[in-house]
Amino acid sequence: MNRELQQPVTAIKGIGEETGAALEEMGITTIEQLLMYAPYRYEDYERKDLAEVKHDEKVTVEGKVHSEPSLTYYTKKKSRLAFRLLAGRYLITVVCFNRPYLKEKIAMGDTITVIGKWDQHRQTITAYEIKLGPLPQAKEIEPVYSVRGSLTVKGMRRFIKLALTQYGAAIVDPLPLSIRRAYRLISKQEAIRAIHFPRSHEELRQARRRLVYEEFLLFQLKIHALRKVAREYSQGIAHSFSKEKLDAFIGQLPFSLTNAQRRVIAEILADMRSPYRMNRLLQGDVGSGKTVVAAVALYATVLSGYQGALMVPTEILAEQHARSLQQLFAATDVTVALLTSSVKGKKRREILEQLAAGDIDIMIGTHALIQEEVNFKRLGLVITDEQHRFGVEQRRILREKGQSPDVLMMTATPIPRTLAITAFGEMDVSVIDEMPAGRKKVQTYWVKHHMFERVLDFIEKEIQKGRQAYVICPLIEESEKLDVQNAIDVHSMLTHYYRGKYNIGLMHGRLSAEEKEAVMKAFSENRVQVLVSTTVVEVGVNVPNATVMVIYDAERFGLAQLHQLRGRVGRGDEQSYCILIADPKSEVGKERMRIMTETTDGFVLSEKDLELRGPGDFFGTKQSGMPEFQFGDIVHDYRILEVARSDAAKLIESKAFWHDEPYQCLRLYLQESGVLDGEKLD
Ligand code: ADP
Ligand code: MG
Repeated sequence: MNRELQQPVTAIKGIGEETGAALEEMGITTIEQLLMYAPYRYEDYERKDLAEVKHDEKVTVEGKVHSEPSLTYYTKKKSRLAFRLLAGRYLITVVCFNRPYLKEKIAMGDTITVIGKWDQHRQTITAYEIKLGPLPQAKEIEPVYSVRGSLTVKGMRRFIKLALTQYGAAIVDPLPLSIRRAYRLISKQEAIRAIHFPRSHEELRQARRRLVYEEFLLFQLKIHALRKVAREYSQGIAHSFSKEKLDAFIGQLPFSLTNAQRRVIAEILADMRSPYRMNRLLQGDVGSGKTVVAAVALYATVLSGYQGALMVPTEILAEQHARSLQQLFAATDVTVALLTSSVKGKKRREILEQLAAGDIDIMIGTHALIQEEVNFKRLGLVITDEQHRFGVEQRRILREKGQSPDVLMMTATPIPRTLAITAFGEMDVSVIDEMPAGRKKVQTYWVKHHMFERVLDFIEKEIQKGRQAYVICPLIEESEKLDVQNAIDVHSMLTHYYRGKYNIGLMHGRLSAEEKEAVMKAFSENRVQVLVSTTVVEVGVNVPNATVMVIYDAERFGLAQLHQLRGRVGRGDEQSYCILIADPKSEVGKERMRIMTETTDGFVLSEKDLELRGPGDFFGTKQSGMPEFQFGDIVHDYRILEVARSDAAKLIESKAFWHDEPYQCLRLYLQESGVLDGEKLD
């Protein structure tokens, strides 16, 4: 943007030192920042016929007070004021909480304006605000800013108005006219004015549309430029391997690959052959067969004379992967080894030596792999499973154990497309969107807590058929605050209920690695029929004979997590069941249980989860690298996001973008955000 706008806010006539300091406390120092400080909502005085207003919607009505207001006190501070209001053709009730002083100000026959929530069934408005006098005519929509300290919303309106009148003309539009014309976008000047002081809802909509597009386009340009730099300037490994040998390996697998597996393998191998460093995210629902895809990629790096590493978040999973890869590679001369923190002493030293000497081809392990003592001879491919469990830093350390190795990140958390193209925009994405043939869908039921005994009887029937069950509890220790069921309690309850007829195992994070392994081993050999566990079994555990997954207090889990847990069953040939025990109180909670019973499609669930929880919460952690947008909302504005993304991709690849005058502003933006060092991409 313009230099003029980079001046401090105090350059504005009418804003003094004191206001300047108050604004600075809110992170607003320049005129530009003040202009871009968007309202978080609007006070809406638009007239609407009450018949058009939906239940629970916000409404503004003007009317005549039709009854003497009556005031009731519940406690000293809590009160309720109620009166009748004749609003046009409607005689309704208005209630207003904790503002007793209004009683003296409102009298029968007065014309007032009420802003509040409309309860259609009770024909009542619960007022947020009551203005004495008729509906204001001039300004129908007023901006409301979040303010702190000595600043007020009114003051904020005034300062922004001053900024607009004195400096509005200095706002430069970074979007070339061609783009604005193509989408009929209003100018940036116009949009900034209208986002603060819209004259109509339509104007506000246009202002938002324009600003959201710009915000998304800039973001996507950055991502695509980064990718271009990464592609064209990275010194990766150009793997070379014999296609015949790979095909032979695929041919001797105990099953034939699904089309989706073939497709993603082709994508991965193409990346590996190219001299660019692969940076690819492999998404595939639970059970879609990612392990064998990883195995093919690992084999390719070994054939090409390199070593491969597979890092997973838990020991159980590491051991399991080691077993399955050893099986898959049994017919080859590939050597597979396992490294976790439980591998100690002489064994550990041997493994580390062999790895450094290049005698181990494929190293599987937990975080143990990123320790300093671990050295590869020629690391060519790094794979992480359940990548969201690892921080950016951990992945970097592993990667740097080789010279620009190719990187493949696998995840069974289906990432909604909108998130994939924002949070993971700089990666390439492969998706396994097909399950191996013959899989039965897991039947899912939602029951209330009082039906627990019937659930236990159901489990018993399955056990008598030779099957096994998981019972998942949210926490291992009693916590009064959360009032959640304790896994230890559930374990003793089940032991008691089945009167020693079956073996009930207990698994939680407080057990030592040996204890965990012993329990898992017993369960996988059916020496334990019911495994009571916390969510430590969430990822990757594979016991095909288990057909029942009971999840206690299911409302405490996110949809993605429930889906992961459900993925522990349905891995064999038998029909499997997932039983959610939950008494959710909120509508959202009930909706989540319902949706679980309705679909087993991880992508549908993840889209829904995103909708219900919002992007910030989706990964459960703030470290997920989700960008925060000022105007855009990736869920609601996903169409604009898609358009901006494809525009950005085209722009970055076009000559005009890098040379022509109308794009100068956008180029400048990329330079300023540090993506480009000027000439590199010309
Ligand atoms: P995930 O994607 O959850 O990691 P896995 O790789 O563990 O899934 O695969 C789940 C199961 O499906 C394994 O037992 C695996 O051997 C089997 N499997 C994988 N691919 C196929 C296929 N194309 N046909 C049949 N079974 C397959
Ligand atoms: Mg897996």
